[in-house]
Amino acid sequence: MAFIKINKENFFHNLSKFTKKTGSKNSIAIVLKDNAYGHGLELMAKLSAEFGLTQAVVRTYDEAQKIKKYFKQILILGDKAIVDDSCSFALNSLEDIKKAQIGSMVELKVDTGMHRNGIAIGEIEEALQLIKEKELIVKGLMTHNRSADELSSELFWQQKNFEKAVGVTMSHVKTIRIHSYNSATSLRLPCNNEDIIRLGIGAYGYSELPAIYDTLELKPVLSLWAKKVSTRELKKGERVGYGGQFTAPKNMTVSTYDLGYGDGWMRSNSFEPFITAEGVPILGRVSMDYVILESTKDEVCIFNDALSAGKALGTISYELMTQLHTDIKRVVI
Ligand SMILES: *Cc1c(COP(=O)(O)O)cnc(C)c1O
Repeated sequence: MAFIKINKENFFHNLSKFTKKTGSKNSIAIVLKDNAYGHGLELMAKLSAEFGLTQAVVRTYDEAQKIKKYFKQILILGDKAIVDDSCSFALNSLEDIKKAQIGSMVELKVDTGMHRNGIAIGEIEEALQLIKEKELIVKGLMTHNRSADELSSELFWQQKNFEKAVGVTMSHVKTIRIHSYNSATSLRLPCNNEDIIRLGIGAYGYSELPAIYDTLELKPVLSLWAKKVSTRELKKGERVGYGGQFTAPKNMTVSTYDLGYGDGWMRSNSFEPFITAEGVPILGRVSMDYVILESTKDEVCIFNDALSAGKALGTISYELMTQLHTDIKRVVI
């Protein structure tokens, strides 16, 4: 079966770059949602702990259970709050407060302009009142930026709104942690005025910022590999795969490799062939479990840079990587 290589050295390199910016490993919360962006939840949790990180962010309580032993503190972005000493839960709406278990630890998420999740700044006082009635422990105040990775001043507009939210909240509760930085924000601004950054894509080696911004030299962590199933000779004019999409322009030797859209590799359109990391085009259509390449190598690297591979497939690094199925074997190199 196809497999994924996880480059530990590159992961540590990226984490070191951000540690330099924040000044401390304790102020990096590594985002491990969606199978750690396709890298493997438990594997990346283990490596993060080995590096010295103590904080993580996931989407569900189930995910948190699997990686609890590696971290001091886990923030859960999208699940019902329950009592657990090592987990805090983002409150995305006033309803979330009503659903929360009495005494659970929460972080108030405010909507500073993205209008996806979070309570309005005008609702903070009502939220704090509800929180008090439910005897919830307020651990933090957070928000999320909608366009930190775009060439615009919207980030600063949201930061201003967040400052307002911080002011209102701190006049009621004093000892909370403040956080709004994702990877793009952490790359654009000095990370010196908040308690933690929530570091996702940057840790895995990518910056989606326009080239005009200085970025840290990040290195991709994940590469996708496929193994040879069989080799055959094609005569000039013979056609390959479903629909016979590809016609051999000459006699050639091709091999079938064990990766397909069933593994989460994008089928995309087959008119513009995807070029692998080794410069070899995928011939014809991607099948559920197979692709065909003009190669006889036992193992081929399909991609080792999700940013450029994503661009070639009309998507972003995030989508390309999170699609990769959890049962593809991940090996650390
Ligand atoms: C996914 C997510 C992040 C991480 O974003 P990156 O762009 O991958 O760094 C941070 N905060 C929240 C709320 C998120 O949902």
